[in-house]
Amino acid sequence: MATIDRQATTLALAHALSAAERGLAVIPLSRTKLPALRSPHRDDTDLVGAAGTVGPPCHGECGLLGHGVHDASTDPARIRELFAAAPWATGYGIACGLPPHHLIGIDLDTKSGTDSSSALRELALRHLFTIPETVVVLTPSGGRHLWLTGPPDVVVPNSASRLAPGIDIRGAGGYLVGPGSRTEHGFYGAAPATAHLAPAPC
Ligand SMILES: [Zn+2]
Repeated sequence: MATIDRQATTLALAHALSAAERGLAVIPLSRTKLPALRSPHRDDTDLVGAAGTVGPPCHGECGLLGHGVHDASTDPARIRELFAAAPWATGYGIACGLPPHHLIGIDLDTKSGTDSSSALRELALRHLFTIPETVVVLTPSGGRHLWLTGPPDVVVPNSASRLAPGIDIRGAGGYLVGPGSRTEHGFYGAAPATAHLAPAPC
């Protein structure tokens, strides 16, 4: 088991570095798909000021690791540092909404029998847009993540089942589990026919 985990960590780091090479900022994830590094502020009470006001949340200004998606980087040295601090990581997350790609993820769920793929096709027909050829990541539960790039001047927020049941959007402040990640539910991999594609503009 320990050996398998070490292999998963090495594999996740390799995939994370290659995603970073494509301009995608990454963080290590644990088997639960959560950021592998816990917040250095999780036990802090001094964020509450004298007047009872809660201070601004730290997004990494303290210089420590463990600020979730705010740790995300495209710098190979920084990524190796993050993974070295989290040797239990078996996957990686790709931060959405950051330049240069302003990545948006369309998360098509198949849980609880929702047919989110045909819901998306129906939306596309109704609103006269086409679903471009783009990177598709297959999830262990049979779902799919479509990767798109957004316009730089629009902040696309996260949403769950707002477009249609089973369709979630990962935008600014969110992240997508990267292909090559292993989680407790299984493996995430790029659909073979789309692995060479760049994320298409939405
Ligand atoms: Zn901090």
